[in-house]
Amino acid sequence: MRSRWFLLLLLPVLLPFRTFPADGWRTAYDSSGFLRTPRYDATVEYCKRLAAASPWARYMPFGRSPQGRDIPLLIVSRDRAFTPDAAAKTGKPVVLIQAGIHAGEIDGKDAGLGLLRDMLILKQSVNLLDSVIVLFVPIFNVDGHERFGPYNRINQNGPAEMGWRTTAQNLNLNRDYMKADAPEMRAMLSLFTSWLPDLYVDCHVTDGIDFQYDVTYTTECGPNIPRAVSGWMQDTLLSRVLPAVEASGHRIFWYIFPREDLDLSKGMQGGAAPPRFSTGYAALQNRPSLLIETHMLKPYRVRVEATYHLLKAVLTVLHSHGRELRRLVRSADRTVAGSAEGSIEPLRMGMGNGFHMRRFLGIRPRTEPSAISGGTRVLYTGEPFELDIPFYDEIIVQDSVAVPHAYIVPPEWAFVPEILRLHGIRFERLAAARTVEVDSYRFGNVQCASRPYEGRQAATYTAIPVRELRLYPAGSLLIPMNQRAARVAVHLLEPRSGDSFVAWGMFNSIFEQKEYAEEYMMEGVGRRMLEAQPSLRKEFEDRVAADSAFARSPGLRLNWLYLRSPWADKKLNLYPVGRLSGKL
Ligand SMILES: [Zn+2]
Repeated sequence: MRSRWFLLLLLPVLLPFRTFPADGWRTAYDSSGFLRTPRYDATVEYCKRLAAASPWARYMPFGRSPQGRDIPLLIVSRDRAFTPDAAAKTGKPVVLIQAGIHAGEIDGKDAGLGLLRDMLILKQSVNLLDSVIVLFVPIFNVDGHERFGPYNRINQNGPAEMGWRTTAQNLNLNRDYMKADAPEMRAMLSLFTSWLPDLYVDCHVTDGIDFQYDVTYTTECGPNIPRAVSGWMQDTLLSRVLPAVEASGHRIFWYIFPREDLDLSKGMQGGAAPPRFSTGYAALQNRPSLLIETHMLKPYRVRVEATYHLLKAVLTVLHSHGRELRRLVRSADRTVAGSAEGSIEPLRMGMGNGFHMRRFLGIRPRTEPSAISGGTRVLYTGEPFELDIPFYDEIIVQDSVAVPHAYIVPPEWAFVPEILRLHGIRFERLAAARTVEVDSYRFGNVQCASRPYEGRQAATYTAIPVRELRLYPAGSLLIPMNQRAARVAVHLLEPRSGDSFVAWGMFNSIFEQKEYAEEYMMEGVGRRMLEAQPSLRKEFEDRVAADSAFARSPGLRLNWLYLRSPWADKKLNLYPVGRLSGKL
């Protein structure tokens, strides 16, 4: 307390910028009449000016894009706690606010720069910075941002020009949190796991139907996030933030996902975000997130101001209640570290039939035949209406897994430790080769996607449990589950998770048959196998009787026998990662 007062006394000396006229601090957004957003260079320049003018701010880029741009970060701390260690010593909550993960949806940049300028320079509501440390990323997808032009977001009402959704490598960063292909995402994960923010705020602009709300939001509240943390978001943060945003003149509603766009009486639904998204990812790291989605049909200024007020309301709650959140988050970390082993981790979630009624403020659509599409044209009339709609928010677990004592991964899968490190997952290495009994999986019905998705050829399969003795070489990774980030590891390593390495196609080479038998060799071997093994003969004959394509194909028939011969590759379709039920 004393040190704070001491700082305040020094302020007039430390902060010569207080004499700067506000005009000198206009952003490119302000001086364009709120119609334009600044380019990358101007944004970085502005961040540097803020940092030069305020002792509480530091400009510290945290990574480099594939096209060579620094990814900007402003750290704001009145204790000048500009490193994770220094921040931890203050005991204050850390909020990471990110804009421009989709660079065309850039409202968060102008809102965040304006808010930090107003606090740091104009001293408006500067007390909010007493109790919280802010990490502000004005543009996450920096290369996408500089693919600048007026034709990047057809549905969106400004700014005049804007960036592009994906990175220079055409990757969508908001699908990349787990597989971490993009250098930008690798930088973000390093930032995230070194600071371990207590709240993650991700600013977007939504597409979809027309409605009256300027801004929508969502936060995780399913079984993918520790209950106490999501409870705090609902009971402490949202209960204060939502009225504050409404009081600022902006209508706000839960992220709008209608079951049917043209018949809202069918209702809307929430859901749990898979961890490839920022929100689902933070949840796996035991942290709450707030997804902000302004409404694309509203003018740019309205959207930026709605985001501004929402961010300010979040800081206001963190100012008064952030230490409580920090305590809950750290306690969730300790709970996971202490009790992940044996717990049941949900891998896939869906929606149940539970709902409650909510009043929705819509804009009435009408339809007419379309001459150009040949179908139905939807016109939003601008006419507001109100409707009580069912809001489906019952999240159910569709698949889950018991968390093992540890996972073991052979060293040849070198991408695994690289990505685990980014996620802050701790592991050891086997000093010498060991034969161990593991639970693992044999894959059946393997299909690899015929088209790429996010640069990967995703795989689908059934994962059949197997238990066997395996030799793991020296250097194999041992990943214990008694750690804070255990749940991230489970989702990366359990094949039934939709964001596992296997599901993303990162283990596809295990699905390739690399040896085969010449048919003239297999003829003799196959005959002997069928003669010696009556049960195999029966299985073979049943297959011939049941599957005409199989029956007609000499190659398939002989390969079927080859795959059951001693020459077959025992590792084909076998998951090299093992689950350990206890200490080695
Ligand atoms: Zn977006």
